Amino acid sequence: MQTHILGYPRIGSKRELKKACEQYWSGKILLEELLTTGRNICNHNWNIQKEAGIDLIPCNDFSYYDQVLDMSLIVGAIPVRYHEVALKKNNSELDLYFAMARGYQKDGLDITAMEMTKWFDTNYHYIVPEFYKNQQFKLTSDKIFNEFAGAKQAGINAKPVLIGLVSYLLLGKEKEEGFDKLDLAKNLLPVYTEIITKLQDQGAQWIQFDEPFLTLDITEKAKETYQYVYRELRKQFPKLKFIIATYFDGLKDNASLAVSLPADVLHIDLVRNPEQLEDILNTIPENLSLSLGVVDGRNIWKNNYEKSLTFIKKATEKLGTERIFVAPSCSLLHSPCDLDFETALQPEIKNWLSFAKQKVKEVVSLKALASGTEDESILADFEDNKKAVASRKTSSLIHNDKVKQRVAAVTEEDAQRKNSFRIRKEKQQESLQLPLFPTTTIGSFPQTTEVRSWRAQFKKGDLSAEQYDALLKEETQRTIRWQEEIGIDVLVHGEFERNDMVEYFGEKLEGFIFTKNGWVQSYGSRCVKPPVIFGDISRPDPMTVYWSQYAQSQTSKWVKGMLTGPVTILQWSFVRDDQPRAETCKQIALAIRDEVVDLEKAGIRIIQIDEPAIREGLPLRKAEWQNYLKWAVEAFRISASGVEDATQIHTHMCYSEFNDIIKNIADMDADVITIECSRSQMELLNAFADFKYPNEIGPGVYDIHSPRVPSKEEMIELLRKAQNVIPASQLWVNPDCGLKTRHWEETEKALIAMVAAAKEASAAY
Ligand code: GLN
Ligand code: ZN
Repeated sequence: MQTHILGYPRIGSKRELKKACEQYWSGKILLEELLTTGRNICNHNWNIQKEAGIDLIPCNDFSYYDQVLDMSLIVGAIPVRYHEVALKKNNSELDLYFAMARGYQKDGLDITAMEMTKWFDTNYHYIVPEFYKNQQFKLTSDKIFNEFAGAKQAGINAKPVLIGLVSYLLLGKEKEEGFDKLDLAKNLLPVYTEIITKLQDQGAQWIQFDEPFLTLDITEKAKETYQYVYRELRKQFPKLKFIIATYFDGLKDNASLAVSLPADVLHIDLVRNPEQLEDILNTIPENLSLSLGVVDGRNIWKNNYEKSLTFIKKATEKLGTERIFVAPSCSLLHSPCDLDFETALQPEIKNWLSFAKQKVKEVVSLKALASGTEDESILADFEDNKKAVASRKTSSLIHNDKVKQRVAAVTEEDAQRKNSFRIRKEKQQESLQLPLFPTTTIGSFPQTTEVRSWRAQFKKGDLSAEQYDALLKEETQRTIRWQEEIGIDVLVHGEFERNDMVEYFGEKLEGFIFTKNGWVQSYGSRCVKPPVIFGDISRPDPMTVYWSQYAQSQTSKWVKGMLTGPVTILQWSFVRDDQPRAETCKQIALAIRDEVVDLEKAGIRIIQIDEPAIREGLPLRKAEWQNYLKWAVEAFRISASGVEDATQIHTHMCYSEFNDIIKNIADMDADVITIECSRSQMELLNAFADFKYPNEIGPGVYDIHSPRVPSKEEMIELLRKAQNVIPASQLWVNPDCGLKTRHWEETEKALIAMVAAAKEASAAY
């Protein structure tokens, strides 16, 4: 039996890489210093794994920005527009690489960045490879060989990790018509061969090919390409050991394909899909070993050893210990680095957690326990593990009977507004008296350095609660006055009191904790620190009523209450794994529902429940979409349905394709939905039009992701396009998203123009 790690977090346990990259980009440090930081992180990571006793330690899992971009550079998939960057005298390979990731605006060049998108269903974002017809590839970077050599120097014969050829192609985008990216496999294969030959010459014995697409719905052609590619590679390298790594879901209908590929080890994700073990054990051929992904690479909970051992036992009984590998479910890239840094966590809760460094140890302990080679310290670890698991099952910190009972008592009616939208619309019109093309914004106004500094000073104790409150009130009042002045119809308070749209609520809800250093890479140098949902969720006190009520007291116009929805809170947190996500989501939904009702009681007549993350929660396999959508939509409805017909519920979603889920969006039954639309020139509205979406819609007319100020004419044109497909009586006028990242200067100009555009549009009626 052997242990291995698919990949280790590379941002550094104190975010050293983030800091070094940003300093390098702003010219504060030289290349050599950045490279030193990178090497130190690699060495640090390798040592952790070596000291823990991992058998196969990865290399090339490190990256200065993104592992997919690394692959593009290695195989020379460098779009033509960057060639000039490479030609500039003082530019290194890394400068070209960062130009692809971030764009390049100097030396008289102005080149856009490559596109970025979500890595499967994680919150990690990768740089999308660009493919062209008949594209030729060429070995272009030495990074992987240098890393292998670096590991060797550290006394490790590392296992290089490559994104498998087929997954690499499937991750990319065809940038011209008339070909299929999979056709490029033939051109790409020689470069993969060259890379692997070099690694073999350097002394590599193992290669890990990451092929997560084997867990997705894939075409026949993709399946054929898998067979072709791995057969060819096997022919070239009869002696090298190949690991094919799959993760994020089960192999399911691709299982027979996966076990038929000529590899030495197949890695499967038993956290996401434990059911597949049985299937695989029944079909696995004799010459294939199995890597069991039993330690969750994507969450922060301590492994349940007893449970994992039953999987390992089952597999060893069938295959024998020799053919078994123990591993985390996927790369540990998605876990924070090291729990040891969390010195402020409640000890009982901390004892339930495990970050990357701790997970490495878990893998080693599991192997020892499963193969009967455990020593005293591992036996002690096992005892501690049992105690932690037992304490989590019963702890009063986690389990709140009142919450459980309330969730169990939820009825269909709780997820139902009192009357249909048609009736609600009339009542809302009567009480709200809004004009045609009502104007509003999505919630936040600029979070200036000043606003942020108040929060920092308040947290440090340099500002008293009263002082902080007074400053926020002043800012809120100014914002209300200004919205009145420029003639916005539905005002917002500006969200100046909020750090982040999930963290703010998590801090006020019971069942959440926050780490000090639990950073996870989101993209490039950007990291996020998701809250941890560890227990039953309840709302001890109102969360937003104070600010909404204050804002409403300052004006005779309507102020919109502003909440984050249950699915988004769930999606952007580390979620407990001891009950279904749907259950946790329902608990959050009830807490938000109480808040909605309290806002109504406080005189707030329009309430927005943001759900930007609904779409990203979709399962990877289409067959599971409806089940997810059912509980996600229900959670939203529970949160929204406690109010009277005359109270208007809004929701907001950021850019997303709605075509395939429009029915479910309509099922949410929000009175008004605002969406990001301007960059697509209103194209996203077509889904709503084709569906004859009945409720009101605010398609964004102002792209807030750029400092650029749109003109009144542009926005009138967008509104005209919107009216082509949606009746005017259903339309609102608003920006694409919240304005917190913008400056006041451009915000003011843009919103003044937006209001003018709305006025002109309604004058035509
Ligand atoms: N109300 C939030 C804001 O304005 C919405 C942000 C979002 O959709 N991501 O910032
Ligand atoms: Zn948004």
